[in-house]
Amino acid sequence: MQDKGLLIVLSGPSGVGKGTVRKEIFSEPNTAFEYSISMTTRNPREGEVDGVDYFFKSRAEFESLIEQGKLLEYAEFVGNYYGTPVDYVRETLDKGKDVFLEIEVQGAKQVREKFPDGLFIFLMPPSLTELKKRITTRGTESEDVINNRMTVAKEEIEMMNLYDYVVENDQIESACERIKSIVVAEHCRRERLEPKYRKMLEVE
Ligand code: 5GP
Repeated sequence: MQDKGLLIVLSGPSGVGKGTVRKEIFSEPNTAFEYSISMTTRNPREGEVDGVDYFFKSRAEFESLIEQGKLLEYAEFVGNYYGTPVDYVRETLDKGKDVFLEIEVQGAKQVREKFPDGLFIFLMPPSLTELKKRITTRGTESEDVINNRMTVAKEEIEMMNLYDYVVENDQIESACERIKSIVVAEHCRRERLEPKYRKMLEVE
């Protein structure tokens, strides 16, 4: 029987740089994991391609996917829906491939409930000052909006206890290296491997 792949979830507070880290990991030609392309109701940004960056859906289409149980998790973020297609995730894991999700914290919480043995990695900003800087340089938001985002970010950081590993996003390259090393180590975990080797003992 084919061993199942590992479900890898990268999450963390808004503004920490999850998307940048994920893109860097997948920019390498020999990446060992499959990226699960999310569904969203937000409009494509310049240069984004449907079916590559996201599957862009209308609100009605998204709500119908929710009703049909087609999403492993979903959340509303800044007025738009985001969600993970469940069939793709299950089929890819069944083929023995690792699936990588890059999602916000509410969605990650739902995945933890459904896949308790997934690998949950929390991307952490080096400091709150640095996070504020990143949130501020992102757009032209007012002080109120920025303060509100910081309050939300602190609440999101409180959710760290649901995760297995924490990676500080100090330097993108080194954060990516640590994430890849964690995945390698996770594959060698005794709890994951023991059933396989016990079976080996039975047949030999
Ligand atoms: P953006 O609009 O900047 O591409 O993404 C906004 C936020 O949505 C990011 O924090 C990103 O990680 C998150 N996100 C992207 N795809 C999904 C998804 O499928 N589910 C959830 N819950 N969050 C997602």
